Amino acid sequence: GSRFQVVEQGPPIEVFLLNKLFTDDTYQNKVNLGVGAYRDENGKPWVLPVVRKMEKKMSEDPTLLHEYLPVLGLEQFSNASVSMLLGEDSPAIAAGRTFGVQALSGTGGLRIGAELLNKHLKYTTFYYSNPTWENHHLVFVNSGFTQPRTYRYWNPKTRAIDFDGFIEDLKNAPENSVIILHACAHNPTGIDPSQEQWEKIADVMEERKLFPFFDSAYQGFASGDLDRDAWAVRYFVKRGFELVCAQSYAKNFGLYNERVGNLAVVMSDARHAAAVRSQLTWIVRGMYSNPPAHGARLVAAVLADKQLFDEWRDHIKLMSSRVMGMREALRSELVKLGTPGNWDHIVKQIGLFSYTGLTPRQTEHLIKEYHIYLLKSGRINICGLNPGNVEYVARAIHDAVTK
Ligand code: PMP
Repeated sequence: GSRFQVVEQGPPIEVFLLNKLFTDDTYQNKVNLGVGAYRDENGKPWVLPVVRKMEKKMSEDPTLLHEYLPVLGLEQFSNASVSMLLGEDSPAIAAGRTFGVQALSGTGGLRIGAELLNKHLKYTTFYYSNPTWENHHLVFVNSGFTQPRTYRYWNPKTRAIDFDGFIEDLKNAPENSVIILHACAHNPTGIDPSQEQWEKIADVMEERKLFPFFDSAYQGFASGDLDRDAWAVRYFVKRGFELVCAQSYAKNFGLYNERVGNLAVVMSDARHAAAVRSQLTWIVRGMYSNPPAHGARLVAAVLADKQLFDEWRDHIKLMSSRVMGMREALRSELVKLGTPGNWDHIVKQIGLFSYTGLTPRQTEHLIKEYHIYLLKSGRINICGLNPGNVEYVARAIHDAVTK
């Protein structure tokens, strides 16, 4: 017999399974609202023109070699990432009490950040929103955290944030709990706290001595404005919090599979930076030795050049406004059809996703009868909508809701 006979089949990953079902479906008008990636108005993936341009240039640059990067990656890239997150004029940067390390996209930033907090600060309890991106739990458990907890976030009745529940759960969290906070464009609900609510969250976290771990997977992609999407992180830094933040360039640069990300660390005292960097070096060394260069070089070059940067900012604006336009379109189709219920939340939400409030039964109806693929939770990717299918999707939702 095989030694491997003891291995049991694991469960499928819902979002990838859904993608496969979509790909295998031969129905002509099928719609994919599952995948977490941008699609253009023809339903096609979009390589940002500034990315194409840079890749062409890089392919012809004889000085770009395939030598190893340092364990913590490309420093220009990390510095530019921290600047983009905290703002160029951030006093924390001037004081040298923040730095970044290149990571394997957002997931990798979460992973090494969590391992740092667990191994070296000895934190064991982490909180994530209910619901959250489905990978937070696994990444933190694999990093050594043993006490997973959730805080309330979504109120299904109001289809809005359960702010009182959120605050109450923070108030009951043990000291030194790590609180995972979505910097903007909360996945999957699309609902962010208001600025006043962020202030209250900061008050409670300060009082309860909780540690903020920001997950910034959508900076610039949510509102089209890099500064606005970083408001919460900058506010916490201004308040004097020490924190870490995982940054991803998957969405805002469309570099999903290049695994371009950064972990930003903010400390109250610059003197600890060298030790923290050295321990992150060992964490990365033992996991994958060093990160890939291609995407980080590209992003660093764009962030460093005023003209390229402006081009990129236009791309972000275009993507975020297309998403907002489709939110309006879907809501207005549902209103036109007189679909029972209030659909205002679709336009109030922000970012790639909308928590529609559709039930598992209604969701299944959409998949089975209409070949419209979405997660069981009722989360849809707004980018899967375009002028050619939004009416079809609205009619299908109407049918599912009135059945
Ligand atoms: N956090 C959140 C909230 C996300 O939505 C995503 C992407 N789906 C990630 C982290 C990580 O993505 P990546 O590792 O591809 O950057």
